[in-house]
Amino acid sequence: MQVFEQVNDLRKQVASWKKAGHTVGFVPTMGNLHQGHLSLVKIAQQACDKVIVSIFVNPMQFGPNEDFDSYPRTFKEDQAKLASLQTDAVFYPPVEAMYPNGVNQTKVQVPEALTSLLEGANRPGHFDGVTTVVTKLFNMIQPDKAVFGQKDFQQLSVIRTMVEELALSIEIISAPIGRDVDGLALSSRNQYLTEEQRNVAPKLFTTLQDVAKSIESGNHDFLALVKVAKQNLMQEGFDGVDYIEICNSLTLLPAKSYDKNVVILAVARLGKTRLLDNILLPN
Ligand code: AMP
Repeated sequence: MQVFEQVNDLRKQVASWKKAGHTVGFVPTMGNLHQGHLSLVKIAQQACDKVIVSIFVNPMQFGPNEDFDSYPRTFKEDQAKLASLQTDAVFYPPVEAMYPNGVNQTKVQVPEALTSLLEGANRPGHFDGVTTVVTKLFNMIQPDKAVFGQKDFQQLSVIRTMVEELALSIEIISAPIGRDVDGLALSSRNQYLTEEQRNVAPKLFTTLQDVAKSIESGNHDFLALVKVAKQNLMQEGFDGVDYIEICNSLTLLPAKSYDKNVVILAVARLGKTRLLDNILLPN
């Protein structure tokens, strides 16, 4: 498995693969890889001949009081995990390779109608950081297909919108959420949890499941469902609920009772750790 830190070397490799007629799949990550990330790599391997994984903790998508400095960086372990899957290449750029002129220069911005809701309301500027870095990575790698996790449901919608509106010729593949045995969605941030918090954490998924069951059994009083779910989360021991919302999965606006495409999205807090999860209902 090759590791590239500089864009030019990576471009040369991709060009030679393309010349040989290979398709190229891409999985962007911030590293500290877990089984959720690795499932994306496997999906990319099924879809393409060659797979590149990027590991880059993107400063532009972190707010000033967020965990950029303390975000777990475990390159050696990540490298071993990717090598064991026969990943073809890892792109591991230093910040200066991604932002040679500094972080706040040319930006890619998806309209606020999609980026100011939910995560965007809680993390101003976050999605501008995501779309800017993903565009740069897309331009550097020029993959045929890129895989993103449904775990970050809004991110996936934002990326799909960007790809469509900028007419990028990259197929976006969405990957199901990888979970621990007790249902907790895998996340690099789960390791911030104390043992006590870790015991509370899976209740986020069970609460989402309860809401999903109620909707599926015909209860479309979404406001009441969300109110009860919030109360449950607080009773279960969460320290706060940033949001729990029942949305139209295409627009991410609050779902109407007759909507067929429905997703339940939530972020609940344990201490400083934000746990993010969602359930997409079958339509
Ligand atoms: P991150 O390293 O957190 O930026 O995530 C990189 C990619 O992995 C994103 O597309 C995430 O949506 C995806 N991802 C993170 N956690 C999971 C998970 N538990 N299951 C599936 N995909 C995930």
